[in-house]
Amino acid sequence: MKRLVLLSLAGCVAPVAMQAPTPAWVSDTSTLPASQKATIADPYREVAAKIIATARADRGAYQKLAELTDKIGHRLSGSPELDRAIAWAAQTMKSDGLEVHTEKVMVPHWVRGAEDGEITAPIARPLHLIGLGGTIATPKAGITAPIVVVHDWKELEAKHDQLKGAIVLFDVAMPVWTPENGSGYGEVVQYRSGGPAKAAKAGAVAVLVRSVTAHSLRTVHTGATHYEDGIAKIPAAAVSVEDATFLTRLAAQGSVTVHLHLESQMLPDAESANVVAEWRGSDKADEIVLISGHLDSWDVGQGAHDDGAGCVTMMQAVRVLEQLKLHPHRTIRVVLWTNEENGLRGGKTYAEQHQAELGKHVLAVESDSGGFAPRGFSVGHKDPAAAGRMQARIGEIATLLRELGVTHIGAGYGGSDIAPMWPAGVPQVGLEVDNRTYFDVHHTDADTLDKVDPVALADDVAAVAVLAYVVADLPERLDAP
Ligand SMILES: [Zn+2]
Repeated sequence: MKRLVLLSLAGCVAPVAMQAPTPAWVSDTSTLPASQKATIADPYREVAAKIIATARADRGAYQKLAELTDKIGHRLSGSPELDRAIAWAAQTMKSDGLEVHTEKVMVPHWVRGAEDGEITAPIARPLHLIGLGGTIATPKAGITAPIVVVHDWKELEAKHDQLKGAIVLFDVAMPVWTPENGSGYGEVVQYRSGGPAKAAKAGAVAVLVRSVTAHSLRTVHTGATHYEDGIAKIPAAAVSVEDATFLTRLAAQGSVTVHLHLESQMLPDAESANVVAEWRGSDKADEIVLISGHLDSWDVGQGAHDDGAGCVTMMQAVRVLEQLKLHPHRTIRVVLWTNEENGLRGGKTYAEQHQAELGKHVLAVESDSGGFAPRGFSVGHKDPAAAGRMQARIGEIATLLRELGVTHIGAGYGGSDIAPMWPAGVPQVGLEVDNRTYFDVHHTDADTLDKVDPVALADDVAAVAVLAYVVADLPERLDAP
């Protein structure tokens, strides 16, 4: 996992990465405290064992994910599928015994249309491509132009004089996952999000980016791109790794011309909603432990790992507490966000509308790195001293989860939907998972239910249910001095 800096760009993982810690879960070194001395977790060993056993005994999260992915499918903001997913999630959590309501959010409504492209010279070949989220359309007849290949921002600057009237190809390779650095997503996604605006500034007429993945079977990966005010908007698409590298080889030998045709549209904002469900606390019910995932997805695949898995993990975590009739002191609030992928309106609207009660949010948790086996928690707070106290306490709580393979406590970012609550000082935690294969399917037609392991998903439920229950039940707040 990457240690990620808080920022405002939308996207499934924040694109700016700091020096990454070594994930302890791939080595023998645990970052958890030794078990000899007394910890805040000790009174919870018996109940944690019960929660874990209950979570592991059924496949409730996987059954929910199967309903969401196979019966509804992918869920882009503004789509009827997202509306159906919101209604389904609300009804499912009501049936599970929770108090549920929805909170209205207006979301951007971008729609993909027909799209295709091909190399027209020096030889004719079709391109495997997908429009980036938010891209404008090309003219009806498409755009035909020579390509200029660049591999980083420096080369874009150096080739500035060749860019007028050209299609810029950002052929930036994503490093493979390593124990030292985690995934290379944070390093390269900046070219997808910021490349079209920078190329337009230099006079380019369109942009192609190499799909943001370290492994490819000619899959194409979409994702948001961000235009800048005052700079021309130009069409932008991702090509497969195979096609990007082929274009680069051709361009090394001479002039290459590409034809690009996209019919996407930006429609007026649409009405959507966050789904909010509560498992009420006993005597501190006004204090809240928020656990969350985002219900929207890109308009490809089934949005199974991103982030259907995060949503059903939270839904089932509270279901397990309901099955065991475990009422902690504080309220556990499940929030299933809308519009993480292309606007973050769900997270931003919640932070604005709940401003008065953010001081009562004891913790906000998000899972948005896929439904893989749990490995740890990344822990953050705007006050570094509070962050240190939280890391120590969550490290103690995580000793309850050793049998699940949870061994790592990292510092940093929790998730893009809970980030808008950061300035108010809401403590933040992200679920770290074994995400080695996440970016192989991320934002593609291959993000489907068959990629999700029911056993790993049940362990995610166990990890979140134990963390949420203990934090909601501790005598003191998690960040208390
Ligand atoms: Zn996501």
